[in-house]
Amino acid sequence: VSLPQPACYIGGGWQPAANTFSVRNPADGTIVGQAADAGPEDARAAIAAATAAFPAWADESTVQRAALLRRLSQELLDRLDPIARTIVAEQGKPLGQALFEVRYATQWLDWFAEEGRRAYGRVVPSPVPGKHVHVLRQPIGVAVAITPWNFPLAMIARKLAPAMAAGCTMVVKPAEQTPLSAVRLFEAIDAAQFPPGVLNLITAASPEAIAPALLEDDRVAKITFTGSTEVGKILVRLSADRLQRVSLELGGQAPFIVFDDADMDAAVSGLLASKFQIAGQSCLCANRIYVQTTVEEEFTERVLRAVSALKVGNGAAHGTDIGPLIDERALAKVSAHVADARSHGGRVLIGGERAAGGDFDRGWFFVPTVVAGCTDDMLCAQEETFGPVVPLFAFEEEDEVVARANSSRYGLAAYVYTKDLGRSLRVSRRLQYGIVGVNDPTPATPVGPFGGFKESGLGREGGTEGLDEFLESKLVSFIA
Ligand code: NAD
Repeated sequence: VSLPQPACYIGGGWQPAANTFSVRNPADGTIVGQAADAGPEDARAAIAAATAAFPAWADESTVQRAALLRRLSQELLDRLDPIARTIVAEQGKPLGQALFEVRYATQWLDWFAEEGRRAYGRVVPSPVPGKHVHVLRQPIGVAVAITPWNFPLAMIARKLAPAMAAGCTMVVKPAEQTPLSAVRLFEAIDAAQFPPGVLNLITAASPEAIAPALLEDDRVAKITFTGSTEVGKILVRLSADRLQRVSLELGGQAPFIVFDDADMDAAVSGLLASKFQIAGQSCLCANRIYVQTTVEEEFTERVLRAVSALKVGNGAAHGTDIGPLIDERALAKVSAHVADARSHGGRVLIGGERAAGGDFDRGWFFVPTVVAGCTDDMLCAQEETFGPVVPLFAFEEEDEVVARANSSRYGLAAYVYTKDLGRSLRVSRRLQYGIVGVNDPTPATPVGPFGGFKESGLGREGGTEGLDEFLESKLVSFIA
């Protein structure tokens, strides 16, 4: 797959880079391509372009903005294969998951193409005779989007779709591990012919070097971020000086609860679907698997059988279920979680180590792992593992497991497997999580709000709520 020349996209055109950096394939360490290493001047130029484009874009008809989003969606589908292959090359996920990611990105564009036409205000009866109270909803202004490497295309689409629909303009800064998928996206944006300056791309090797220029700027009204909780907190502190609006989609630590009345086949296949997507590197991944003691043995046996059939390998190879972790740091974190579980009495039933030998030695592969006998004092019970590890925790009863599931500083996704309607209603209400899948391992959808409680974030993407994040409410009171 031929890749574009390293450049940033600013003011409707590609700006060749003075400096570049290499992007590596996590499966084998080979250089996939070069990306522009933008500096503060480039960041300021992108913000200037977005600022200049904002007034006309904010006034543009919602029908026209919707048409452009739909055109972008089609441009992505027209490039489905090269974009998916770029994602595989720099992110490592299996090709099937990369193809899904491109289609998933288009679902967000399609949803907000429609939703942008429903940015309704209100006319409210005034308590004072002769007064007329109108509530307008208007685009916030220039938004900066900072995105992670695990969904290098879809996380950008989730931000630009509502921003475009609302009438905001945007500067996108993708993760340094995966800038090339973003470049592919901007090729499609260029082909869709968005007005110059409405969408701009800045790639950079070091986020710290570019962040001040991107964020400490009075022209930036909104920061929308997906990534780790630690960096999310840094951005909130930075935004405080200007009181920029902030939306944060941060880390998760999802409980996956299997009651003894669950459909066991569905619970096992659901666990695999939730746990092993992107080798366990999704914010929605099941992280703590709670199994009722009455079915612990049966569930463990079935999970072991299913996990031992998973194929680890290069995402580009046919039949791969699990690709590499993103980098050495990720591998070290997953290894540390397994070592910690072992030292606290966990029993590693399968896996438990880096995949070694032959081609594996050139990448960051971890063998799919199941650990039984896990306890709440382990690292894997408290922190995001972000790797292909299934830690099994036993529980006795409903109240106990809800309390344990809620005893986390995170609150993004939670999963419950049960056939009891009353229990599914009770437990889903009591879980302190922004997203609950009841017998559903893949609850994320553009038609509903996506986001976390507690330290998993602020604000929502998707649904009607997603548009709100890019709108300000204005009260206009008339005497007439
Ligand atoms: P990260 O926080 O390290 O990086 C995310 C982005 O922030 C990257 O673009 C990076 O360059 C940038 N960044 C890093 N330090 C920065 C700084 N000091 N100032 C400004 N920008 C900075 O996260 P990651 O490792 O790329 O992504 C994994 C994390 O993202 C996990 O915690 C995962 O749960 C989370 N995530 C959350 C969601 C969600 O919707 N809630 C979705 C995907 C990923």
